[in-house]
Amino acid sequence: MRHWGAMNETAHPRSAPLRARAEIDLAAVRANVRALRDRAPGAALMAVVKSDAYGHGAVPCARAAVAAGATWLGTATPEEALALREAGLSPGQVRIMCWLWTPGGPWREAIEADLDVSVSGMWALKEVREAARAAGRPARVQLKADTGLGRNGCQHADWADLVTEALRAEAEGLIRVTGLWSHFACADEPGHPSVAAQLDRFREMVAHAERLGVRPEVRHIANSPATLTLPEARFDLVRSGIALYGISPSAEIGTPVDLGLRPAMTLTASLALVKRVPGGHGVSYGHHYVTPGPTTLGLVPVGYADGIPRHASGTGPVLVGGKWRTVAGRVAMDQFVVDLGGDEPEIGSEVVLFGPGDRGEPTAEDWAQAAGTIAYEIVTRIGTRVPRVYLNEE
Ligand SMILES: *Cc1c(COP(=O)(O)O)cnc(C)c1O
Repeated sequence: MRHWGAMNETAHPRSAPLRARAEIDLAAVRANVRALRDRAPGAALMAVVKSDAYGHGAVPCARAAVAAGATWLGTATPEEALALREAGLSPGQVRIMCWLWTPGGPWREAIEADLDVSVSGMWALKEVREAARAAGRPARVQLKADTGLGRNGCQHADWADLVTEALRAEAEGLIRVTGLWSHFACADEPGHPSVAAQLDRFREMVAHAERLGVRPEVRHIANSPATLTLPEARFDLVRSGIALYGISPSAEIGTPVDLGLRPAMTLTASLALVKRVPGGHGVSYGHHYVTPGPTTLGLVPVGYADGIPRHASGTGPVLVGGKWRTVAGRVAMDQFVVDLGGDEPEIGSEVVLFGPGDRGEPTAEDWAQAAGTIAYEIVTRIGTRVPRVYLNEE
C-alpha cells in the first residue's frame, strides 16, 4: 500500500514518474521500535517524532511507532504535539510530551489536548498555572533538570525553588507533576566522563524532588545512544528518536546492522539528462570540477533546496546503474551533476542517494561523512519539495 504523505503532497498524479522521492518504510520503523523495546525491557518507549519525525513524516511514523508498542510520543514544540492530537492520536491511545516552550505559548490548548508539558523555569510554571486556572483543569507538568547539558532545564541551584513552587501548584489542583527528566550531552561517546556525572546528578535531583514530595509517574534521561548503550540510564522511560528511523547515533556506537536497526528512508531521483562531453569541460557553478578526459555526465535533479548539503559538493556519493558515483562540482539549488565515466544509463534511470545499503547504495551516514555533519541532519533536512512515499503501512 502506498499513498502520498499529506504534508508533502504534490500535484503529481500517482502514476507519473517522480523527479525525486523519499520512500519511508514503515515496517522498518515498527521493527526498530520493537528492537528498542527489547533493548530497554521494563521501560516505556517514547517515540521522538519532532521536526516531522526527522524528515520521515510525523503522523505516519507516530502511528507506526504506536502500533509497535510506543506508549509515548515526544516533540520539541507544542505545535508539533497538537498536530499529532489533531491527526487522531488520542489521549486514550498515547501520551504526548513536548518540551520546547517560549513565553505566550499555547499552554491552554496543550492542557485541553492532554499533553505533558515540560517546565524548566519559573516563568513557564507561572504561565502553565494561569492556563490551568483558565482551562479549569490541571496541567500535566514534567520538570526538567539541567544535569550538565547546559542547554534547557533547571540548574541544580534553582531546583529546590522550582520543585517547591510546582508542589504548591499541585496542592492548588492546578498541575500534576507527572515526570522528572533530563537530557545527556555526550551519550553518543560511550565512556565520556560527563555521562556518569550526569547520571549521578540526575539521581540526586530526582531524590531531592521526591524528598520534597514529588511523586512522578516517569523519570527519564535516555536518548537513543543511552537506550542502546547504558542500561542504568533507562529508568521508567526511554526517549528514542534517531534509532527509530534506523540510523545509528554515532559510528562509535556501531552500524545500524550491529544495533539491529534498519534505515527507514530511501532517497532517490530520476536521472534528468545524460550527455557526452570532451575532456577539460568545467562542471557546475565555479567550475570546481573539470572533466579529466572525454566522459559522460548525468544530471541529478535535486539540490540544496531539497536538503542536499552544499557541503557535499565534490564528495557526495550516489548509486547509478549499479555503480557509486560522486557529485562532480557544486551542488546547486535544484540539481547536481555526476561524472558517469563514459557509461550511458537511460535518462530517467533511478539514482539512489541513500538508503539502508542492501542494494549497495550509500547510506545517510555516508552522506554525513561526505558533508562533514551527522546523519541526523542529512535525513531531517530533506525538504518538503521531495514527496514522501509510504511503504508497508499496516
Ligand atoms: C531529540 C531529542 C531526543 C531524541 O534524541 P535521539 O538522539 O534522536 O534519540 C530525546 N530527548 C530530547 C530532549 C530531544 O530533544
